[in-house]
Amino acid sequence: RQKQQKFVYDFTEGNKDLKDLLGGKGANLAEMTNLGLPVPPGFTITTEACRVYLESGAEPAALRDEVSAHLEALEKRMGKRLGQADDPLLVSVRSGAKFSMPGMMDTVLNIGLSDASVAGLAAQADNERFAWDSYRRLVQMFGKTVMDVDGDLFEEAMEAAKRAKGADSDLGLDAGDLKQLVADFQQIVLKETGREFPQEPREQMDLAVRAVFDSWNTERAKLYRRQERIPGDLGTAVTVCSMVFGNLGPDSGTGVAFTRDPASGAQGTYGDYLQNAQGEDVVAGIRNTVPLAELEGIDKTSYDQLMSIMQTLETHYRDLCDIEFTIERGHLWMLQTRVGKRTAAAAFRIATQLVDQGLIDEAEALQRVTGAQLSQLMFPRFEDTVADSGQVKRIGWGIAASPGAAVGKAVFDSYTAVKWSRSGEQVILIRRETNPDDLNGMIAAEGILTSRGGKTSHAAVVARGMGKTCVCGAEELEVDTKRRRLTAPGGVVIEEGDLISIDGSTGKIYLGEVPVVPSPVVEYFEGRMHAGADEADGLVQAVHRVMAYADRVRRLQVRANADNAEDAARARRFGAQGIGLCRTEHMFLGERREMVERLVLADTDTEREEALGALLPLQKADFIELFEAMDGLPVTVRLLDPPLHEFLPDITELSVRVALAESRKDANENDLRLLQAVHKLHEQNPMLGLRGVRLGLVIPGLFAMQVRAIAEAVAHRKAAKCDPRAEIMIPLVGTVQELEIVREEADRVIADVEAATGTRLKLAIGTMIELPRAALTAGQIAEAAEFFSFGTNDLTQTVWGFSRDDVEASFFTAYLEKGIFGVSPFETIDKDGVGSLVRSAVEAGRATRPDLKLGICGEHGGDPESVHFFHEVGLDYVSCSPFRIPVARLEAGRAAA
Ligand code: ADP
Ligand code: MG
Ligand code: MG
Repeated sequence: RQKQQKFVYDFTEGNKDLKDLLGGKGANLAEMTNLGLPVPPGFTITTEACRVYLESGAEPAALRDEVSAHLEALEKRMGKRLGQADDPLLVSVRSGAKFSMPGMMDTVLNIGLSDASVAGLAAQADNERFAWDSYRRLVQMFGKTVMDVDGDLFEEAMEAAKRAKGADSDLGLDAGDLKQLVADFQQIVLKETGREFPQEPREQMDLAVRAVFDSWNTERAKLYRRQERIPGDLGTAVTVCSMVFGNLGPDSGTGVAFTRDPASGAQGTYGDYLQNAQGEDVVAGIRNTVPLAELEGIDKTSYDQLMSIMQTLETHYRDLCDIEFTIERGHLWMLQTRVGKRTAAAAFRIATQLVDQGLIDEAEALQRVTGAQLSQLMFPRFEDTVADSGQVKRIGWGIAASPGAAVGKAVFDSYTAVKWSRSGEQVILIRRETNPDDLNGMIAAEGILTSRGGKTSHAAVVARGMGKTCVCGAEELEVDTKRRRLTAPGGVVIEEGDLISIDGSTGKIYLGEVPVVPSPVVEYFEGRMHAGADEADGLVQAVHRVMAYADRVRRLQVRANADNAEDAARARRFGAQGIGLCRTEHMFLGERREMVERLVLADTDTEREEALGALLPLQKADFIELFEAMDGLPVTVRLLDPPLHEFLPDITELSVRVALAESRKDANENDLRLLQAVHKLHEQNPMLGLRGVRLGLVIPGLFAMQVRAIAEAVAHRKAAKCDPRAEIMIPLVGTVQELEIVREEADRVIADVEAATGTRLKLAIGTMIELPRAALTAGQIAEAAEFFSFGTNDLTQTVWGFSRDDVEASFFTAYLEKGIFGVSPFETIDKDGVGSLVRSAVEAGRATRPDLKLGICGEHGGDPESVHFFHEVGLDYVSCSPFRIPVARLEAGRAAA
């Protein structure tokens, strides 16, 4: 027989590891109960029951009896029945999912009170005001969250009562006023819903439980889940907890606390306390709370007990905890705890503090921080002292969509953004919302500010992709693009050209210029700040230590994508263990364009050889510099990849020039030939055209020249008794035959240089795996390649059939909103598709050549989730842009720890 499913757990039956089933709140209440802490008795209805309800539209059949059994046990234990007229047991009905989710249903307190039992409660507590205060709270909360009455109606009635009484807070209302308010509230409920406020206690409870289930699927909750990538089918648990009362008088109260400062990580007493209050009052700001430390003067016994419980919790959870508690007539009760949220800086500090306290080891410390937090700490920041001092005016607050601190002149259209930035101005592009037409302006701007849209809006997605500061959805700002002005609350008007500052890490918007300071963490990585330099604040020290933990355990090496000596040197300071991708295309730009033109126009072998001969010494000099900056470390040089026409004049411009010249009858021979060549090279779809290895096979001598430049540069460095370690990488290979032909030629050139210089060069030759066919035939390709480097940018483009430059700006927002993917596959590797090709290519490559070196050099090399994937499939290294190196090191450590 199938085992009867269990839908209800008493607090004594659960524990903190049952979050899936009991939700975070229920699991931790159980954990505290089992630790022997003072938790009011109660039970939790599982997420499983919620899932049944959501799927079938009805509570599971067994649930009602199970709840009855647990309620009965609770009543027995408390010595009173739910809503019992002369001495009512009251409970709270609380929502609690596995992940904490603001935007879900609020808790309903004081369930069980009714016209029949309010007098009994008053008599038992010997406090009439308390009983009516509890009742009006019940009708208000129940009306709003269970019966869907507009909460403002209750607020207004409450305000009216206070006005009539001349009271400035709820404490000014006496029992009689509150009794009247209960009647008013019940009238509101009846009028708005056509139903009476339910008087039957069990019915109140059942309706509240169902309302919690239903709250899983409110629009707000759905939106939040999509943004935070929380699965939509988890459901919520419901916790039923016997009431304790902080509103019994001045010897009672309620508060929240942290075991350490969630902003700095410092240990101490952090929290707020409010006397004679219930539940939400502390955070709702209805009256002024006092700092937790003052509780010591109010109720020393409870204070001492709370401090000791907080210590117990910290040691038990081995982490910062946040807490909700209530004091009922001098008796302390714990109502909630969880591992608390913290700022990025606090995360690093706390991790190392806990190591010092011996509570966690280094491996665990690595799990307490993330690469995303580290990268947050690496953005330049507004100087806090100025931003917070009121020297500049904060005019609004939006969604922190893409981090960074940006200052510039306000512009309201893309055209102006581009025009002004060309003349050297820094601008902030302000739009109601952006669309693909704004792309040029977004590129030109320092930052982007919109008044509409959330974290997946066009502005947010594109800005994050570009690494550009963005604040979006600042709804209180009125953007008038026609009149080129923005109006902020309080009538502040910003016209085109006014300076504003936006903080993409906090979402704050300032009028005027806030000074920007570099991140101390970057100063440290750059070697401009010593790890011990900031003893007071300790952040750099903490980052330094956590990075050391990561470097000790990680198996993945981290290399940089760097094309010149300056980037290489920075990458090295940031901890790069080599260069995984040196693009050679910049060596064909600028003044060297002319030489490329000559190469393309060459009619004879001699002309072509001359053109290549002119490029050779320049390339060689570039490589010498690069090998010097990376002495002793591997440098993977990729031979020319982009289509040649990228180095030639723009087809339209050139056509116009030639046409004008022809009309003047002084067309120049060279331009005419160039135009012909440009026409010949023009491609409908250059991404899939004549580029990469195809260039090497079609343009005689091109790759040979590049290989020679590399080989001679290596020989030069060796002659200087240094340690150059070059690797030659062939891009866009689809079949082993392409690689074999290029390889033969390269081997010949290398042998040539070796003979001429009398040096053994030991140059490895390998290929990029960036086409599906290359991945599918990796076993064959490995016969001609000493290493693979997965080019996951092109591989993602070709596997999905997405042209990156086009799709990100056009329809990715729609795809994200529809949940087709939670994040762009160009940002985080698509494990199921692209990733599975990588995985099989790794296996096939290693089967052919067991010592095949394997790396990845797409943008994914610096993305936390992707780094974990590359660790898991067994690559040797990831390569990413210099600024992402610390993040990659950290995540590689976290993956291995
Ligand atoms: P949230 O998830 O919004 O914090 P909670 O379920 O924790 O909701 O409850 C809201 C407030 O009510 C909190 O301040 C909590 O401490 C208080 N509260 C909940 N249950 C009880 C109870 N049984 N007795 C007294 N106060 C309670
Ligand atoms: Mg709570
Ligand atoms: Mg590529």
